[in-house]
Amino acid sequence: MATTSSFEVATDRRTDTVDVTDRVAGAIPDGLETGVCSVFVRHTTAGISVNENESRLRDDTEDFFEELVPDEGHRHDQLDGNADSHLRATLVGASESIPVEDGDLSLGRWQSILLLEFDGPRTREVTVTVVGE
Ligand code: ZN
Repeated sequence: MATTSSFEVATDRRTDTVDVTDRVAGAIPDGLETGVCSVFVRHTTAGISVNENESRLRDDTEDFFEELVPDEGHRHDQLDGNADSHLRATLVGASESIPVEDGDLSLGRWQSILLLEFDGPRTREVTVTVVGE
């Protein structure tokens, strides 16, 4: 069995973190017990990460990427001024794969699926593909 579905995520700030775990879990079809779930963000200035959803860590993560990649001084800025957003998203990556066991996401106790926004606020599209039986 294989299914693909999408949902939209609204972000509030230029650099932002949104927990999408429940929405991804909701995309697992009834009757699928064992498989793999791919979570993919269809944009070049946002990413998907699996990590702990804790408010201070979210702030630390956002600060980390802002400090790691300078805001200005990139060639792509001559085009649309958001090279920093692309570079931060490149570090995170556009997708994650999570095992499905007993019909549910097999995440660790402290793991959540996070959409990391680097050029918000915007509406982002997330595609969930589940393959299994
Ligand atoms: Zn750009």
